[in-house]
Amino acid sequence: MPFRLRFIPLLLCLAATASGVERVVLKQDGERHTVTGRLLVTAEDGGMLIVGPDGKLWNPSPEDIISHEHDDEPMQALSAEEQGRQLLAELPDGFEIHHTQHYVICYNTSRGYAQWCGSLFERLYKAFNNFWSRRGFRLHDSEFPLVALVFGDQKSYADYVRRELTGGAGSIVGCYSLRSNRMMMYDLTGVETLRRPGDRRANPAQIEQMLSRPEAEHMVATVVHEATHQIAFNCGLQTRYADMPLWFSEGLAIYFETPDLNSTKGWRTIGAVNHGRLATFREYQRKSRPADSLTTLLASDDRMRDSEQAVNAYAEAWALNYFLLRQRPKQYLAYVKRLSEKTPLIWDDAEGRLREFRQAFGDLQALDADFVKQTNKLR
Ligand SMILES: [Zn+2]
Repeated sequence: MPFRLRFIPLLLCLAATASGVERVVLKQDGERHTVTGRLLVTAEDGGMLIVGPDGKLWNPSPEDIISHEHDDEPMQALSAEEQGRQLLAELPDGFEIHHTQHYVICYNTSRGYAQWCGSLFERLYKAFNNFWSRRGFRLHDSEFPLVALVFGDQKSYADYVRRELTGGAGSIVGCYSLRSNRMMMYDLTGVETLRRPGDRRANPAQIEQMLSRPEAEHMVATVVHEATHQIAFNCGLQTRYADMPLWFSEGLAIYFETPDLNSTKGWRTIGAVNHGRLATFREYQRKSRPADSLTTLLASDDRMRDSEQAVNAYAEAWALNYFLLRQRPKQYLAYVKRLSEKTPLIWDDAEGRLREFRQAFGDLQALDADFVKQTNKLR
């Protein structure tokens, strides 16, 4: 997930979820935009965070704002049909729309592949909601239809993503943008290494068969991973532009990414041991894991963002979420609920993050000892 904000306001913000809509004329990236949307927070310096009816976030600083009016009429999220029309108007010719219960899939590849994606996402959406509700956290339906852009090939996907995530690099398979709230990916059945002679990719059953092969597993897992981020940020588990520790966001998405392509009803493999991440974590433990590894992982996102350290940090993040979900389920739930209530644009410092974690799980040294012990038992 490209998880980087455009800029990080230094000032603390006043929570001010106003009703009604704001009409703001602003300039961003040298362009003038008229934004109508719901105010989520106002910063002390006059900056704003606004969500538009399409789910896109706008975060103008005071210098960006040209004019601003308030209207008491509440904001209406775009319907799935309106969202679809807006996407078609924005994208080049050749795109079409496929609707499912919660998703608007905008694609320029085969309809069969868009249908396959829609069915995968809907199963995940349901499984994700069930997973939390069984643990005592009832999530809500997404306010906005969830948008997925599916490109016919890797190159057109990569070109689009480069423009969409100014500066940030998406994964080579798929990504979710916190700012636009959209998922972006491309048709995996077009990947040459996954194709066999005579492969046809017309209908969802054939596509499913092709993508159930072991060589496709990692790519499908990436798509599921990004879809998990999108659901988590739209159904009340996480809040966009709030202080969400990356070890939590990423570890959780990895926890969910085990594809379960054969099950049409649910998602039986959620929480299966991720053997790749486990092997990485074991190697890290054996070779270089320092005594304060848990502390540095919790205190800031630096290790997760640093390309040299990210592989180990992601493995540790997965292992930690796995451990807490299974060995400390009540504390984990309380901690997750607390995170879900965070106000956007308020950034915790290292001490704040550690304090919050300790309040939920107790002494770090004792926890780390048990974490390592339990993780060593995994097979
Ligand atoms: Zn991610």
